[in-house]
Amino acid sequence: MQSECNHKDEDLPVTRLHVSAKDRLRRQVKTLGLQTLSRTGLAGLVGRRYRGRGVILMFHEFTTEPETKLGQGCRIQDFEAIIKQLKASGREFVGMSEAMRRLTDPGGKPFAVLTFDDGYRSNMELALPVMERYQAPAVIYVPTEVVTRTINAWWLGLRDAVLKNDQVEFEPLGTRFACENYSEKLATFRHLLAWVWQDFRRADQLEPVFRQSGTSIPDLVDTFFMNEAEMCSADRHPLIEIGAHTTTHRALALLPDDEVRRDVGDNKIFLEQKLEREVPHFAFPYGRPSLTGRREAEIVRSLGFQTAVTTDPGCLFPDHLQDVFLLPRQDAEYPEDGLSHVICGMNGFYRALSTRGGPPVTDLAAEL
Ligand SMILES: [Zn+2]
Repeated sequence: MQSECNHKDEDLPVTRLHVSAKDRLRRQVKTLGLQTLSRTGLAGLVGRRYRGRGVILMFHEFTTEPETKLGQGCRIQDFEAIIKQLKASGREFVGMSEAMRRLTDPGGKPFAVLTFDDGYRSNMELALPVMERYQAPAVIYVPTEVVTRTINAWWLGLRDAVLKNDQVEFEPLGTRFACENYSEKLATFRHLLAWVWQDFRRADQLEPVFRQSGTSIPDLVDTFFMNEAEMCSADRHPLIEIGAHTTTHRALALLPDDEVRRDVGDNKIFLEQKLEREVPHFAFPYGRPSLTGRREAEIVRSLGFQTAVTTDPGCLFPDHLQDVFLLPRQDAEYPEDGLSHVICGMNGFYRALSTRGGPPVTDLAAEL
């Protein structure tokens, strides 16, 4: 059985991906565009219509060594630069409940909300000291299975497999990916991430890939995510609030109603028991519009939450008070120039782009 298996693996052809000159150029053009928009005040022009009263910024993990993250996460210096710049421009950092209150206050100062998804340990080790320096609070959205150490953190598994091997056998695609240098590792990682993102059910097919690559998901979860004691202690810090992020961190749009209700509701109960307080704020896993819609928002509302955030780019307007279960949120991670990216985002540039100059707030009447 073993030899048969080995024989089959050896037959797999090798695929060699790399970051091409064209990819690099495209990235450079994008970075230059963001820098021009943010430094010349052009982003502010867009912002006259799209900026609104505030913005919710989304981060995941933080790092001092970006090359070990293959483009994921936020460099801690970038995080500090973003907070410093936003503060200098008159933004106040507030928690989620205060943000909702401020939308009702016509005279309120512009604000920003920091949110961190998934419960990475680096939120406390690297980001918290910066937050303390600037007195900026954050919500950390935590799935139950991060705490119970049973989550299928497939994205960490792929990254680990690609980083530590010269070749990754990938039976689901019938190939072995060459990962001999940084360019091959980065291109392969991006390719495999995109493959799962096309259909999240594929995450379940990765177990043999991890086994053959010597990658242990439970070990990665132990290394990168907060445990129960750390989460409870984080929640007691005056600048941190733990929020809900489902039990299993699956794409809710792919699940039937009763399973969505269970995945969201059980996480709320779990966190409330551990933290001994109400958990009013929720973030959708993979919260882009195609995976997060009215049905999911209605279930979250019915379970007693007060807000839910997506990953749909955009800023906050008083109109959002009519629709607090599909709040827009600006991705704040861009390794080439996080600050320019955030300045464009908080001026609503990405919303303007994604709607091709459409309205700053989704028209509820038209959508319902
Ligand atoms: Zn998440």
